Amino acid sequence: MTDLPAPRLLDQFGRVGRDLRVSVTDRCNLRCTYCMPAEGLDWLPKPEMLTDDELVRLVAVMVGLGVTQVRLTGGEPLLRRSLVDVVRRVASLHPRPRIAMTTNGIGLDRLAAPLAAAGLDRVNVSLDTIDPEHFSRLTRRDRFNDVVAGLKAAADAGLSPVKVNAVAMRGVNDTDVPDLLRWCLDRGYDLRFIEQMPLDAQHAWDRSRMVSQAEVLERLGTRFRLTPVPERGSAPAELFLVDGGPATVGVIASVSAPFCGSCDRVRLTADGQLRNCLFARREVDLRGPLRAGASDDDLAELVVAEMWAKKPGHGIDRPDFEQPQRPMSAIGG
Ligand code: SAM
Ligand code: SF4
Repeated sequence: MTDLPAPRLLDQFGRVGRDLRVSVTDRCNLRCTYCMPAEGLDWLPKPEMLTDDELVRLVAVMVGLGVTQVRLTGGEPLLRRSLVDVVRRVASLHPRPRIAMTTNGIGLDRLAAPLAAAGLDRVNVSLDTIDPEHFSRLTRRDRFNDVVAGLKAAADAGLSPVKVNAVAMRGVNDTDVPDLLRWCLDRGYDLRFIEQMPLDAQHAWDRSRMVSQAEVLERLGTRFRLTPVPERGSAPAELFLVDGGPATVGVIASVSAPFCGSCDRVRLTADGQLRNCLFARREVDLRGPLRAGASDDDLAELVVAEMWAKKPGHGIDRPDFEQPQRPMSAIGG
């Protein structure tokens, strides 16, 4: 641990940025209703996207500032053709960060083994239901079997623990919650529910329709005995032992019980914008200075200043809350 750089991603509230989320593309091959409209979005033009060299350089600057975990996300990260190479290059940084990925799992059946060999440590696969019909309704694509195959390949490739992320939508998959947990337990996957957040491109989020942590726990409670696990540290998921353990299920109550006070995250978009919060209303452009010849120190100063300005919380419950302009798929979830 002695070769770790002194952490420099500090903010005024005593938090330290350690977990960098990098959106490697804003494109996606699903159209989850809580995320984007049926017709998709105006994807970023290629010249605006960071090249591999630029992306790896910015990650290296962040690692130099104390980032210890890099999570690759999107959009759908597996759609970036050079992903295996990006992972290999990030894994060769010093000190080597842990490398995780959040994916919808489509294509992971082919890519899990090469990604693991390149240095990917862990994966979260998003799967909201094990009812194929509900899956198609929710994602607007008939790709349930691809996701299941992707999950299996991730486990076979040793990307453990394999985590499953799920969002419950009222009237679509809210009643599927216990079946999904049973299915994950049977396969050794760690399931985490995430409350739906106001980050959809359509701005259709409605708090009164959101399936809350309390509701998810109530539904799970009809089939399983859940016991809270104390001590969550900076991890956003509140964990529960299932039927006495050792298996657990998590609920990330981003809306009803925000964890902003212990947030250690910072985000980089596919077009090189730094965001100090998922809900930030502003971004700092790193791509412009980088292309104009900025040194690593210049870039680091921009990052340090923006982290210092991080707000204490997302304020979803405040009357003046405004949803960020970029949707989740373009920020990197
Ligand atoms: N495409 C990949 C995937 O779906 O895993 C990575 C990007 S996606 C934006 C990352 C995570 O955000 C997924 O687990 C997805 O379910 C979640 N997500 C997307 N929109 C959301 C919303 N409005 N509220 C809560 N979670 C959301
Ligand atoms: Fe694509 Fe992920 Fe958004 Fe679903 S949640 S549309 S898989 S980016």
